[in-house]
Amino acid sequence: MMKRIVAGVDIGNSSTEVAVACIEEQQVQFLSQHLVKTTGIKGTIENIKGIQIALQEAAKKAGMNVNEIDLIRLNDAVPVIGDLAMDLISETIITESSMIGHNPDTPGGAGLGVGTTVLIDRLYDLAEEGQDYIVVVPKPFDYDWVSHRVNQAKSRGISITGAIVQKDDGVLIHNRLNEKMPIVDEVNLIEKVPLFKMAAVEVALPGHVIRTLSNPYGLSTVFQLDPDQTIQIAPVAKALVGNRSAVVIRTPQGEVVERKIEAGSMILIGSKNQTEVSINDGAETIMNTYERLGTLHDVRGQTGTNVGGMFNGLRQDLAQLTGQSPKDITISDFLAVDAIIPTSVSGSMAGELSMESGVALASMVKTDKVPIQKVASVLEEEMGINVEVGGIEAEMAIRGALTTPGTRKPIVILDMGGGSTDAAMMDASEKITSIHLAGAGDMVTMLINSELALGDKELAEKVKKYPLGKVLSLFHMQLEDGTILFSETPFPPQTFGKVVIREEEDLVPLSIRNSMEKIREIRRSAKQRVFVTNALRALKRIVPTGNLKHLSFVVMVGGSALDFEIPQMLTDQLGKFGIVAGFANIRGTEGPRNAVATGLVLSSVKCGVTK
Ligand code: ADP
Ligand code: MG
Repeated sequence: MMKRIVAGVDIGNSSTEVAVACIEEQQVQFLSQHLVKTTGIKGTIENIKGIQIALQEAAKKAGMNVNEIDLIRLNDAVPVIGDLAMDLISETIITESSMIGHNPDTPGGAGLGVGTTVLIDRLYDLAEEGQDYIVVVPKPFDYDWVSHRVNQAKSRGISITGAIVQKDDGVLIHNRLNEKMPIVDEVNLIEKVPLFKMAAVEVALPGHVIRTLSNPYGLSTVFQLDPDQTIQIAPVAKALVGNRSAVVIRTPQGEVVERKIEAGSMILIGSKNQTEVSINDGAETIMNTYERLGTLHDVRGQTGTNVGGMFNGLRQDLAQLTGQSPKDITISDFLAVDAIIPTSVSGSMAGELSMESGVALASMVKTDKVPIQKVASVLEEEMGINVEVGGIEAEMAIRGALTTPGTRKPIVILDMGGGSTDAAMMDASEKITSIHLAGAGDMVTMLINSELALGDKELAEKVKKYPLGKVLSLFHMQLEDGTILFSETPFPPQTFGKVVIREEEDLVPLSIRNSMEKIREIRRSAKQRVFVTNALRALKRIVPTGNLKHLSFVVMVGGSALDFEIPQMLTDQLGKFGIVAGFANIRGTEGPRNAVATGLVLSSVKCGVTK
């Protein structure tokens, strides 16, 4: 019998994993493995670049040339695209008032000041008796001159109730004032501050938050608004909640322009019937409606709504990628979870956000023409090596997972990747059933990114992967469990007083205002919402009776099984049903990684592919 070198290639949403083995007389000897970031969207031609690099690296590790590989086996990659669907995109353009963007953390003084905005150097010319003024201080004016000027003006009977300062001078000016007043500083776009308009400046004492401008009725009191105007200004108040300082300026221009896009409804199409459910009903109702429907054939979104736009967009994107008509593309599964979504308030000048509740959706998009065949033929041509599509991903994963010491059939695997959670069950007679569910690690990252308003996926990914700490002093850090860590060497100065991500060697300071406890809570709840929900959904469907008590072994594989808390959450949850659940150790060495690639190699023997 011939000796053959077989490579299993698992193209995932996030990673492309390779296993290289030598097969001789049905004996499989694994030689090496490698992982690279997937290039392009899973299941498309763009994947080839990543596959080639992964194969080259794996061949190098095995001490061979990549041409020595006789057969490449690819997984049957199903594309999954996730997106956020919001409860309501409410673009409220408030021409009646504006907030001023500034650094809210380092103001001067405290209290509330209301008055007419005026440039500091025009104060003497323009000030009228009996009027209150807020002075506007652009960059060129230095704090000594400004404080002197304000002190002098006050002694002449000009009433100054607050200041808006461009430089980081708030505290310096405040210290030199005879009569104290609230000062906001670091207002970058000071030239945009409208002059001779009513403005309110509020500063809270250190460790406190503003109370008046963050309350709609506070704003209505300050600016003497009627009930309709109060409704219009409410998003401004909402966006200022939790700030230590704020400025709101009233700029009456009459017209209030408002544009709203409704969240809309989803139309779930089953085998016999279809039902409609509104996004506003929330994730639980949506998922219950889906469960009652049973088998899903497709999902459509109500046209002209936010969710309609989302599903149409998905179809369009995938149609373009695979060169098919959008009609031939269907949604085979989706996961809806409740989410908090930051919404920008258009009356603001620095992109201030208000947090709205909404629904996050991940969808599994299916095409009739499997695009992976095309990837296989192009790869074959470019490398001059036989390429075949090896089979259903979850089935491959189960074959790989069974190489974990201490496991046996019947077994269920949960492959928790970036885009999808795949589950497969192998019964005692080796019959395999599998399903692919939308929603996995990327959705957790998306939720964290949204709910902490990070606007930075890479950072959200770090928040997901590593525990937090709070640097209390140069040598002390409080950990998530409340214990205090003492360091022999001082922590970097930029981390002082900050919540930090404890990434292996590095400390990454977070410049958001949420407390460590709040960030941890959001992180853990995002993981629960996605993975606990999906694990239960998967198991219910895959276990013939739907009764989880009949299960004994659940093995977790995939990148998200490397998470420092997800496997624990599932172990706890599944333990309630008497199930032994834990993460895999593929081939006794690889941990939860490389299951599908390993399975692809092993199944080539079972299928009798090797001659
Ligand atoms: P796919 O098969 O979809 O390509 P993977 O199995 O490579 O996915 O898993 C990718 C997911 O695993 C990503 O969401 C990534 O954030 C997550 N992940 C990778 N490493 C870790 C880790 N150490 N801790 C938590 N999550 C991780
Ligand atoms: Mg995978």
